[in-house]
Amino acid sequence: MIISKEPTLTDAQLAEVESIVGEFDCKIQVIYGAHRNIYAIIGDERSETMVNRLLGLEYIDRVDRMESIYKLMDIRSDLSHHRIRIAGVELGTEPFFIAGQCTIDPERREAFFETAEGVKEAGAQVLRGGVWKPRTSPHSFQGTAKSLEILLEARDRTGLPVIAEVMDEAQLRIALEARVDMLQIGTRNALNYPLLACMGAATAEQGIPVLLKRSRHMGPVDEFISAAEYLAANGNPNILFCPRGTMPELDGFRNHPDESITPLLKEKSWAPVVVDPSHAVGRSRYVPAAALAAFCYGADGVIVETHVDPISGIGDDPKQSVTPAVLKKLIQDARAVWNLRTVREET
Ligand code: PEP
Ligand code: MN
Repeated sequence: MIISKEPTLTDAQLAEVESIVGEFDCKIQVIYGAHRNIYAIIGDERSETMVNRLLGLEYIDRVDRMESIYKLMDIRSDLSHHRIRIAGVELGTEPFFIAGQCTIDPERREAFFETAEGVKEAGAQVLRGGVWKPRTSPHSFQGTAKSLEILLEARDRTGLPVIAEVMDEAQLRIALEARVDMLQIGTRNALNYPLLACMGAATAEQGIPVLLKRSRHMGPVDEFISAAEYLAANGNPNILFCPRGTMPELDGFRNHPDESITPLLKEKSWAPVVVDPSHAVGRSRYVPAAALAAFCYGADGVIVETHVDPISGIGDDPKQSVTPAVLKKLIQDARAVWNLRTVREET
């Protein structure tokens, strides 16, 4: 749909527009209005080059595409019936909880094992544990592959599947070799298209679920869904969208909480939404309310940083991890919200 700056295009301008779209096998259908005309593009209007060439014309104001720019992640795509199962749970059928430490402290293995037991006892389905950490300062603890062994041992002890973030191809290979059950793309790499493409291809065969965080600098919802499209287009459609707060921060919170984009994602895409309230608000005391808000907005699950003794933790744990006891209560409350939601949806 082309909107011109003036109410109508001149004959010469229309001819130029028709010639450009013609190069992309499209045509123009003029819709005559009382005060202005609109120029509909008929055909596959997804070409970015075509749109950019039209936008480069000084007499064009806007080009709105009707067709989705993402093919596989779109709610109307052939994948719309695709369902994702993790730890025996089909996403969307019950509240889904990923919980565990922000960071595994290699010097405190026992603390992680206790956290893992606590998370399991609380009722979470997947155990998280930060192995390599994306830290703003190069002087902060960066994580170590040694922590991967601790994560795997916690899996053996609890029987819970585990998730870890990887930031580059080398870490991806190590995590795959270790048979990590789920992978996380963090906020800093959410727009790292070569890494997304590489992960999509490397996980295609086994279909390892990927939790794709939203970039904190991410703009429109379409940009988030397009990032997921890189994974799907390279062979792995097992993607979970993870809103985790964006910039600029809301005064008092670590980021600007964005669980409210959940219904927008669900209108446009079929993929489950697992919100991260911990990084959104950044303080353990606000986490339960933010997590429940996510469920109210229709989220399928949440990922909650949890530590058996947050004060003694490293990374984000001292400030934003809840204890297993708080997690347990949160899971119960989430079930109540879930049931309320189901009743509302049915009426
Ligand atoms: C994390 O999960 O600990 C993390 C670093 O997340 P994010 O990429 O959202 O900051
Ligand atoms: Mn963290």
